[in-house]
Amino acid sequence: MLKKPEHIGIAVKNLENSNALFTKLFGKSFYKIEPVESEHVSTSFFMLGDTKIELLEASDPNSAIAKFIEKKGEGIHHIAFDVEDIYAEMKRLQEEGFELIHREPKKGADNKLICFLHPKSTNGVLIELCQEIKN
Ligand code: ZN
Repeated sequence: MLKKPEHIGIAVKNLENSNALFTKLFGKSFYKIEPVESEHVSTSFFMLGDTKIELLEASDPNSAIAKFIEKKGEGIHHIAFDVEDIYAEMKRLQEEGFELIHREPKKGADNKLICFLHPKSTNGVLIELCQEIKN
């Protein structure tokens, strides 16, 4: 089962400019900036109530974010949902016929294990599953 939407990811060309823009829009600042090596992105996070907005800037021209912006321009990139057990959800969704982009969960931003579902199996919406890593 997917729990609540954990965050919404927005692809941006320039993280610094967009941090300033969204700080103005939300009336509050981001609480962290974090590079994610596995995805070749720099991210920033804003907390709004109990959900978050993640801004993503490509740190490498081969990053999925760079390709997304090239094709579609800046904008909403993905919606992430909290899950209790990412391995169990990946198995369940695969059995339901959804296409997973990765076979194994990856280490994402904000202390999470993550996995993406291919948008062609979800009506064009890129869905991220994320599970908090418990230390
Ligand atoms: Zn995300």
